[in-house]
Amino acid sequence: MIENLRDTNVENKHDHTGQSTDPPLSVYYSDSWLQEQDITAFDFPYIRPMLVQSFNEWLRQSESLPFVQQASIALFDHEGNLAASSGEQTGADSGLPWDEQAVASCLAAKAPVIWKGGRHSRVDLHSYATILVPVMTRSGAELFALFACRIPLQSFEAYMPELLTNGSLHFRNCFYRRFELVFIRDVMRLQRQADEAARKKTILFNAVQKIHGTIDVDSVLTEVIDSIAHIYPTVQLELYISQDQRSTNIHVKPLRFRNSKDDLRVRAFMEGKVVQETVIGKNDSALLKIAVPLSGKQGAYGVLLLTAEEQLLGDLDIQLITMLADTAGTAFENAKLHEQANLLISELRLINELTKRLNQSLSLHEIFNFATYELLTIFKADYCCILQLDKDKNNFKVMACNLATISKELFTLDYGFGGLIYSTKEPIILPDYRAQSKVRSMLMDETESRSLIATPLVVNSEVNGAILLSHKESNYFSYDNFKLLQTLSAHIGVAIANASLHAKVQLMANRDNLTGLYARHYLDGQINQKQKIDFCGSLVVIDIDHFKQINDTYGHQVGDKILKQVCDIIRTAIRETDIAARWGGEELAVYFPQLNAQQTLHAAERIRSRVAEETEPGVTVSCGIADWNWEDEKVSVESLFYKADMALYRAKKNGRNQIKIH
Ligand code: GH3
Ligand code: MG
Ligand code: MG
Repeated sequence: MIENLRDTNVENKHDHTGQSTDPPLSVYYSDSWLQEQDITAFDFPYIRPMLVQSFNEWLRQSESLPFVQQASIALFDHEGNLAASSGEQTGADSGLPWDEQAVASCLAAKAPVIWKGGRHSRVDLHSYATILVPVMTRSGAELFALFACRIPLQSFEAYMPELLTNGSLHFRNCFYRRFELVFIRDVMRLQRQADEAARKKTILFNAVQKIHGTIDVDSVLTEVIDSIAHIYPTVQLELYISQDQRSTNIHVKPLRFRNSKDDLRVRAFMEGKVVQETVIGKNDSALLKIAVPLSGKQGAYGVLLLTAEEQLLGDLDIQLITMLADTAGTAFENAKLHEQANLLISELRLINELTKRLNQSLSLHEIFNFATYELLTIFKADYCCILQLDKDKNNFKVMACNLATISKELFTLDYGFGGLIYSTKEPIILPDYRAQSKVRSMLMDETESRSLIATPLVVNSEVNGAILLSHKESNYFSYDNFKLLQTLSAHIGVAIANASLHAKVQLMANRDNLTGLYARHYLDGQINQKQKIDFCGSLVVIDIDHFKQINDTYGHQVGDKILKQVCDIIRTAIRETDIAARWGGEELAVYFPQLNAQQTLHAAERIRSRVAEETEPGVTVSCGIADWNWEDEKVSVESLFYKADMALYRAKKNGRNQIKIH
């Protein structure tokens, strides 16, 4: 072992050119430093096993010597207690005790003692010679053993004390070699510990560096877990996070606070410091549980929970882990802030895009469908439903929904989540419809949805509708989703309000003020469109007979009143799909889609007879009918009007209060 150490030392001192750059090799081959190591009186109580082993080694190496075979040789410790003897090995010892006085006198003199004859307390030793030599430490300062030999008096020779002294020196070499081995083993153990500590520190350093360079929350958590698992493979590790954080790492779990004041994790989180306890695990072994808070500058974000056999984690390890947790806490905080900033930016971008698209359209129908599609995409929801309030009918109408069965449904104002929103004016986040909801909802029931976020559509601070988003999974929508929907709904609300307003203005522009019928340009436009898609249609032109006279007789105001009466009759005499318009002055026109002139005649006749009967003062009307169909050579609004006008002319000419077909 010493040799090995020496060799590695030599090799390490070579640089990459292979040449030695350091002092001559002999310096390293000298192990004088090792030979200067010594034991002191403080070590004496612990060296007894080494004394025995060294004595046995010496005996193995020396037992062939005649002197060793003749004599009984023993080793005493620094207090004079027998440590080992050659008796059993050589058979030379007859089991006699050793002369206590001889031992004591050598201890006192710290010099060789030769004792011939004498007594032990129990046995007469007069026929033996006992030689004792002290074994001194390297420094020569302390006596740490006695080397002794007993031999029958008749065999005693004068050279024997010197022989024994040499033997004792040989023994001392054996002893010190063993001591050096132990010493080196100790040094190497310390070296290994230092290496291990350095390894841990390197892993920690790398982890800290990596964590600080990470701006992704999930990666920070994974890095913490991985580094600790790397340093302490047998430690059981869990990370509890108090934030609304989805992680791909299976060791990351949510930190729950319910009924858990005594919970180690909650205590560490609340107190912001390391908390530990020892519990009895399986096989009655003691397990150490340590909860380390994951804190940043603004507060704690979670807790690391480690479970390990008690002896595995020392104070230093806990310090190391705490340091890592602190780093992770700060990194987590930074990553979270970064994530929030990113989220905010992408939300703003989303809002910007959505409003731009919404404002491009003034068609309500388009806006509802577009909003539905966008909301489904943004929130990755399963279903979306937009309700609009109909004030006249006092109900909610489904304006758009990706579930066909309820896409045209009407709901009373106290039904479902729409009703709840209408009465509270508050948004809703529902994690689990099946487990928690007191409200019944057709959307949730029919789609078997469990999660819901919903928000009112507010126009001029009044609830004008509602947006409902659902998902089949429970706990699907996050609080951030809920907040974002509220923001988006404000913009959707504005777009709907704009489009409604636009529709109203459009309606006003298309209507004639006096009669409430459509204006001529609207009728023109409608006929034009229908001529492009329908197969046929017909137009009735209606003119009040002798209206100039009415005006002259009753005045213009009465004339207006009669005109309105006629228009009301027309309106109630036709279907919703027929289009009645004021064509100009007291001339009126009705377009009947998909009907030919003959079919239209009945409606025209109804109008004519009712005018004659119901107006007050009484007037009559004359009507001209013309139709078109797709086989006509030329199909146009102008020619249709022209033909109807011609027919009207004939009706007038023929005596008025009658209908003519072109
Ligand atoms: P007929 O059609 O039977 O040939 O005779 P008429 O007297 O009705 O003749 P015509 O249709 O040519 O005259 C239209 C008259 O209707 C002219 C105008 O005094 C009156 N008139 C047009 N528009 C209005 C209106 O908005 N209010 C009132 N009170 N009268 C109108
Ligand atoms: Mg007229
Ligand atoms: Mg006229």
